[in-house]
This record gives sequence, C-alpha cells and structure tokens, in this order.
Amino acid sequence: MTTNSRRQFLATTAAVAATPLLTDLVQAQTPGRKLGVALVGLGSLATNQIAPALQKTRNCRLAGIVTGTPSKAEEWKKKYNLPANSVYTYDTMHEMAKNKDIDIVYVVTPNSLHMQHTLAAAAAGKHVYCEKPLEISVERCQKMIDACKKAGVQLGVGYRLQFEANNLECVRLAKEKVLGDVKIIDATFGFAIGDPTQWRLKHDLAGGGSLMDVGIYCMQTARMITGEEPNWISAAETKTDPVKFKEVDETISWQMKFPSGVIAHCLSTYGANGFRGFRVGTTKGFFGLEPAYYYGGNRGKRSDETEINIPVADQFQTELEDFADCVATKRPTKVNGEMGLQDVKLLMAVYDSIKKGRPVTL
Ligand code: NAD
Repeated sequence: MTTNSRRQFLATTAAVAATPLLTDLVQAQTPGRKLGVALVGLGSLATNQIAPALQKTRNCRLAGIVTGTPSKAEEWKKKYNLPANSVYTYDTMHEMAKNKDIDIVYVVTPNSLHMQHTLAAAAAGKHVYCEKPLEISVERCQKMIDACKKAGVQLGVGYRLQFEANNLECVRLAKEKVLGDVKIIDATFGFAIGDPTQWRLKHDLAGGGSLMDVGIYCMQTARMITGEEPNWISAAETKTDPVKFKEVDETISWQMKFPSGVIAHCLSTYGANGFRGFRVGTTKGFFGLEPAYYYGGNRGKRSDETEINIPVADQFQTELEDFADCVATKRPTKVNGEMGLQDVKLLMAVYDSIKKGRPVTL
C-alpha cells in the first residue's frame, strides 16, 4: 500500500471527535435508559426492517418519526404508541431540539435528501445514522460530515454488512491469508427493477442508478476484503432499456486495481436478477458468499470445502445497537461519515471513467 492510499484508508476509519452533548449527559445520568431513535422517512426500509428491528434492540428504541404523510403519522403513532410531540414533518424537524426523548435521528429518505435531513438533525443536536449512499456527491457528503462535527454529534452510515458475521468472516480469511494471498475479487449485485416511476430511476433523487443503490455494496466488499483503497478504476455502462433508464444507469461493470496488486471486477445492474455475491480468488484457492448482500441467510464456501454459514441476528438490530453503544459511550462508530464519503468518491470515479471512456487514476 502506498503512503497516500494507506492515509486515505486510515482516514475512512478515523475517529470522529464527539463533544459531550446534552443527550450524552442524559444517558450518563440514567444508566440503562434506552436511547431514543427517530426515523425520517417511513418508506419500505423504515417500515419493514428498521422499525421492527427497533422493537428488539437492547439499548435503543423507536422514539419519534418524521413524515410528510399525515395518515402514516396516525398509523405509526398508534402502532408504536408514540406521543404526539414526537411526531414531526420534514418542515418541523428542527423542533426536535426540545425533545429529550430523541438522541439519534435515522435518515431513511431518498439519497439526495440525506444531506437536508442530516443537517436538520445535527442542528437540533441529534446524532445521525444515515442510509447508504451517504449522499449523491462528494461535496454534499463533506457538508454532512462538517455539520455533524460542528454540532458535536456522530454521523454513522447504514452499512449493515460491516457488522454481518459471514461478511466479516471473509474479511478474516483475507487478512489472515487462510487460503493464501488475495489476488482477484469478483463482486456483483443487482435486481430487475420494477415500477418505472419510482425515485430510484430519477437522477435528482437517486444521484445515479444501480451503481449508487447496489454497486456500493460491491465497492464495500472490495475495500473490506483488501483493506486498501483502489488507485485505478476502469468502467463501462450498458443500457438495454433507454426509456426506463433515461436518467440513470442500468448496468455498470468496472474494474479496480489496488496497491497490493489485487484486481476487483464488479458489476451492478437494475436489468437482471441473480447477481448478489462475491468470490475471492487466492494463491491457494478461493472463498466467497452467495448470497452476500441479503438481509438474512448470507452464506458461502471455501475451496477447502469448509462452509461459511454463521447464523446471524437481525442485521438492522446489530448495527443499531452498535451505533447506540457508540453514542452512549462516546466510542466513534466504525461506519463513519468518512467511510461513506470515500465510497461516494469512488462511485463518482466510476462515472468519471464511463464519461471519459478511459481508466481514471485516483
Ligand atoms: P422508499 O421509497 O420505500 O422510502 C422512501 C421514503 O422517503 C418514503 O417514505 C417517502 O414518502 C419519503 N420521501 C420523502 N420525500 C420524498 C421525495 N421527494 N420523493 C420520494 N420519497 C420521499 O425507499 P427505501 O427503499 O426505504 O430507501 C430509503 C433509503 O434507504 C435510500 O437511501 C436507500 O438507498 C436506503 N436503503 C438501504 C437499504 C439497506 O439495506 N441498508 C435497503 C433499502 C434501502
């Protein structure tokens, strides 16, 4: 690894300085108190994964909601027994500053709204957990990091696989060279996207297509397995449906070269099902997961016939408990804003390579 790339890698995992806040003091004075989490955006992920996970978490609980839909507010208030003063709209979020029951704001809105909602939460003095991708440009990610630093709150990114045992086992195999040195990584993730009117197909809300949505997982795999940052990216795009994918990418395949010589070949698609895993080729064999990126049931194989199939709890519960522990103990989260920014930088380099029609060096 060159000094530069090592420095960059360290920066992504670097500590986030957290100044004591009122919320920290409340937590410190009330041992055993569960931290309050407010969800911003009550769509599919918030409804089906995050809210149910918050019913199981040992150290945090659903304490508030932010929604633009009055009927959803009523439904959630009843279902989760939320007090009226913990229900906000996107325009009244700032009033959370007065709400001591809310410690963490979890942003689960479309990608290009993450900055606006993170800035509002940080200004209200709340720690922020934000869904991936952190935002749709490097500049917007940086603004989020700066705002959270200035407010003295932590910024975490919803990288659930950074806590998933089977993915972490593959990182261990790579790091400890259990099957020799890592040489090649092949990572693919995609699905045939449905509804042509959804925000994921609108550039101003999504910032891109399959790459921003699911390609980011392949990017994470390559960075986690190598523990390095790429110094070279070459990418190409394919569109089979120019009407549906008028604004965003359908399929992108890209290669990255890492300082140690590892080559990663990645693919993201909105055009087809069946791509959802990775394989790592080593000097003595291989290992990988298929599926690798699901909410549950990730598993895989090693070339020495050992199964990789570690039972895991709810991934959303695990990541939320870790972030709540970080807030309560002032331990910097490992899935910090810098890690989210670095991924967005690399995704932008993929688009840059496509635009220029040649490899780009980083
Ligand atoms: P969704 O469309 O189901 O929900 C989005 C929510 O945002 C809805 O409640 C919608 O009403 C609200 N919203 C507010 N302003 C909006 C606007 N201008 N346009 C459209 N919707 C608006 O989306 P989702 O699948 O829940 O994804 C939300 C975020 O979570 C995205 O950033 C996505 O990348 C991320 N996500 C992460 C995972 C994961 O595994 N970590 C999985 C799915 C989605």
